[in-house]
Amino acid sequence: MSGTATSAAAETSPSALAHDLYADTYGTPATGLWSAPGRVNLIGEHTDYNNGFVLPFAIDRRTWCAVGERADRSIVVTSTLTGDDAQISLDALAPERLQGWSAYVFGVIWALGEHGVDLTGRQGLNLAFASNVPLGAGLSSSAAIECSVAVAVNELWDLGISSKQLAKVCQLAENKAVGAPTGIMDQTASLLGQPGHAVLLDCDSYHSELVPLALSDAGLAVLVIDTRVTHAHATGGYAARRESCERAARELGVVTLRELTEVSLPQARTMLDPETFRRVRHIATENARVLETARVLHDAGPRAIGDLLVASHASMRDDFEISVPQLDLAVETAMAHGAVGARMTGGGFGGAAIALAPIEMVDAIGDQVTRAYADAKYEPPVMFTVAPAGGAGRDA
Ligand code: ADP
Ligand code: MG
Repeated sequence: MSGTATSAAAETSPSALAHDLYADTYGTPATGLWSAPGRVNLIGEHTDYNNGFVLPFAIDRRTWCAVGERADRSIVVTSTLTGDDAQISLDALAPERLQGWSAYVFGVIWALGEHGVDLTGRQGLNLAFASNVPLGAGLSSSAAIECSVAVAVNELWDLGISSKQLAKVCQLAENKAVGAPTGIMDQTASLLGQPGHAVLLDCDSYHSELVPLALSDAGLAVLVIDTRVTHAHATGGYAARRESCERAARELGVVTLRELTEVSLPQARTMLDPETFRRVRHIATENARVLETARVLHDAGPRAIGDLLVASHASMRDDFEISVPQLDLAVETAMAHGAVGARMTGGGFGGAAIALAPIEMVDAIGDQVTRAYADAKYEPPVMFTVAPAGGAGRDA
């Protein structure tokens, strides 16, 4: 792929970087090393906060967190990815005091307090982060950093909180401490993912089940095409779409759009303005596509899900209007050059697309996307393959 393809394994190990950064910054070795993966959402976009279905998988790119206890009550953080270290007292944790990247870390500890963990008798912590999850690319580096902190603190403080509850803690941190109104998908994938599997999550009941992806058995790989167009979850169109779904639910007299099926769409059309109806149609059809994708993966394997991925992209482009030309071009080019399926993934307004493709065609597809971007005078995309990997845990 002309130098654009990278594999996580080929890079300098970020786990070693986190370990070394800790020792350099704090002058002692860390007590332990934990990590949590980013995620790719195979299908099910903007369905999570509508209490619907999503089908993400944890990827083989992770954020590592080296942690040790302090004698005082400060939480101190440093990261290879930012220049600005930060510090706060456990007594001062409050969402309105948190800002910048450290809010993702301090926010998780604040949210543990909200969950019922008594923070008053605790010693402080030193934390050092390194990651190979690209930031802001729709692969949820935010969940990766949050979940790495959650599993580390859960174990260091011997809290015994389940992974499902930790997902809620991390979501609370992202919603209240960071101020991004995201659903629970990212944290669930990062905490519950298993190698070779996707996680089918019902965002109403929080019931989750593993769905075999069996990509390599089918001779397939997932190519991530990061457009490098940056999105703004906290302030941008994501919040606007969420608001429009909530308003539509009120106008339709349902608690959430989860209750709508494709069968109820003709009636919904008569009750909503045309734009809001398109938003609702995306949610109803996308929920159906997620369930169908899980069924097809079980029954026929990943080669059979291509049409569902493509239909999902069209729905996001035309009905939910969260795609951008760079994402559309990535999807169209991948499909024209041998992909089995392709779609934008993540919240939209930039970020990444995925192409499900025969392993032997991935390089050629990457070359064609690079060429198409150059022709369109877009910034070159960053491309790499991802594999379904295990969830958050302790590494050392
Ligand atoms: P995404 O989750 O798609 O990568 P977000 O905007 O939700 O994008 O989260 C990205 C933000 O998370 C970064 O701008 C940064 O503030 C924070 N972040 C994630 N990982 C790290 C890290 N390893 N070190 C420092 N900050 C990080
Ligand atoms: Mg995020």
